[in-house]
Amino acid sequence: SLAYFNGNIIGIDDPVIPIDERGHQFGDGVYEVIRFYQGKPFMLKEHLDRLFMSAKAIKLEIGKEQEELEALMLELAGKSGLADADLYVQVTRGVAPRNHLFPKCPASLSITVKPARELSHQVRSEGVHIVLLPDERWQNCYIKSLNLLPNVLAKQEAFEQGCFESVLVRDGMITEGSSTNVFIVKEGKVQTRPLSRYILAGITRLAVKEITGEQGIPFIERAFRPEELLEADEVFLTSTTSEVLAVTAADGRQIGDGQPGPVTRRLYECFQQKIKAM
Ligand code: PMP
Repeated sequence: SLAYFNGNIIGIDDPVIPIDERGHQFGDGVYEVIRFYQGKPFMLKEHLDRLFMSAKAIKLEIGKEQEELEALMLELAGKSGLADADLYVQVTRGVAPRNHLFPKCPASLSITVKPARELSHQVRSEGVHIVLLPDERWQNCYIKSLNLLPNVLAKQEAFEQGCFESVLVRDGMITEGSSTNVFIVKEGKVQTRPLSRYILAGITRLAVKEITGEQGIPFIERAFRPEELLEADEVFLTSTTSEVLAVTAADGRQIGDGQPGPVTRRLYECFQQKIKAM
């Protein structure tokens, strides 16, 4: 593992964040998690685009060109010596005496590169259980902001109920998971919520959308109700670290026959091929 803060490569456990760092005090920043497979980043351009979009949405000047940041991330990933890694990048509004108003100081940049967090074979082959919870987040969930308290609380609640993920409901409709996008399959058609301010535009969601196009699988972007999820043939989650992950029960009720379904398995296989081909 390896870490970087504002120009210096440091040890992963080194104490480096100044007490007046705005990420630390306000969660005033944005982030990305990028998966490296065999030393190569997966959909890096899309992650960088989203990072710059998130920064712009909170009026944060990153202070580096996209190409410069890309080169730095690749350099650090290379230096880590890790083939399969999770790269975490965080940009905050910098270090300044605590005051809500924007400071006149450069942004802070933190990066870590760690061994990829892999799901166990059992979880992959058997699928996971989820709970439905109210979506208590703010109205700008398209921004990948450091403010993750509602997501943290929702994930912990899922864990305490013996589940892998919580799937969130706003105004009677499913939005997304606490750290995943959510899909249902009904009569062979893949459905997920359209992009809006209420969900993150997941990069893995985009990859799945591309795969359905290549495979001729119908892909419908429409919001759906919890009952539709409970009655779906298949349910699956996507994220950078979960990839494509089958859901076999929700709120204690079995989905389909309780096994990862054929469409989910096919999408997962195609996703693996996409990785191998890059
Ligand atoms: N929604 C939320 C709230 C997330 O935190 C994540 C993880 N970044 C996702 C969806 C999935 O996004 P991605 O596929 O880009 O990892």
